[in-house]
Amino acid sequence: MMLDFLRSDLADLEAYTPHPRGEAVHSIDRLDTNESPFDLPPELKEKLAWIYRNQLETNRYPDASQAELKAAIAQYVSESAAVKNAIAPENISLGNGSDELIRSLLIATCVGSECAILAPEPTFSMYGVLAKTLAIPIVRVGRTANRFEVNIARAQYAIEWNSLIRAVFVAHPNSPTANLLSEAELDWLRGLPKQILVVIDEAYFEFSRTSVVSELHEHPNWVILRTFSKAFRLAALRVGYAIAHPELIRALETLRLPYNLPGFSQAAALIALEHRRELLQVVGLILEERDRLYRVLSQLPEVCVLPSQANFLYLRPPPPHASQETLERLVQALKDRGTLVRHTGGGLRLTVGTPEENSRAIERLQQVLAELL
Ligand SMILES: *Cc1c(COP(=O)(O)O)cnc(C)c1O
Repeated sequence: MMLDFLRSDLADLEAYTPHPRGEAVHSIDRLDTNESPFDLPPELKEKLAWIYRNQLETNRYPDASQAELKAAIAQYVSESAAVKNAIAPENISLGNGSDELIRSLLIATCVGSECAILAPEPTFSMYGVLAKTLAIPIVRVGRTANRFEVNIARAQYAIEWNSLIRAVFVAHPNSPTANLLSEAELDWLRGLPKQILVVIDEAYFEFSRTSVVSELHEHPNWVILRTFSKAFRLAALRVGYAIAHPELIRALETLRLPYNLPGFSQAAALIALEHRRELLQVVGLILEERDRLYRVLSQLPEVCVLPSQANFLYLRPPPPHASQETLERLVQALKDRGTLVRHTGGGLRLTVGTPEENSRAIERLQQVLAELL
């Protein structure tokens, strides 16, 4: 059937379905989407349930100003940057996951005008996915072969010769390659002209413990994205935030749907922040497990493993690189044995899970690599 009223370019896009649907996902190790392997502790769920029972009026719209949560986030961000009150609520905008903020930034810069974005690949797939849904062109530049740093010469050339580029997207640390921006990459971003928006996605900040927040006041064209979906264990509740100059924040506030964050999600994020010390305690364990996985997997001759500053590892067969087909077969063979991993950017991305999940992942990887490579 042809629905002639639809934009013709939508026919080429497919809905994003990371987890296979309709399968018994609870019996499988889900190491493909970089969530925390740990649910909220039962006491915090109880507390949240109490708030839901006694305070949340489901018949009323949630707080559209989101003032309480913004204030709590501003304090957390200032504290994490070790700069007292550096960040105020006027520097914060909230999204239904940082995915929503990525889309809002694309709308704010590129919709309704001829414009393009630059997102050095491989990187977080949503930048490209969301740009495509808005019919925004993506200028492709790659990364260096060994360390996966942005190919700065190429990127700079693109910016100088393509006056349509209005925004640059980078993740710090990057997904799927797990590396932080190097000093050279940061210098390049610092030097970009002020008419280009620089989006620095710190989704894994709580694992990397590295941030550019302290430089934000020098760069009105920078925006930092963070999320409650990873270390804070709230992926189901969809809370992300942007940190930027108040004028950029005002633009995001104008664009967002007034009730983009359900009351329950706001309450959960507040509780998570209030109990951050306790919640973030397991980050240490996850990092230890990551380092154990790294040590073991880097002994395997069939794959190269990149050092990671996040809660996941990126594996690639050494050159001559395995074909997409072979990688697909590896993913399927791992899934058949009970471990989900993500095939992306010409390699496999493995989320650090519980110690048991990680041990099973090692064992299964050894088996499938021996079988298929
Ligand atoms: C997981 C992730 C996000 C988080 O998205 P949410 O919509 O907040 O769940 C953002 N950026 C990167 C690079 C990620 O890996």
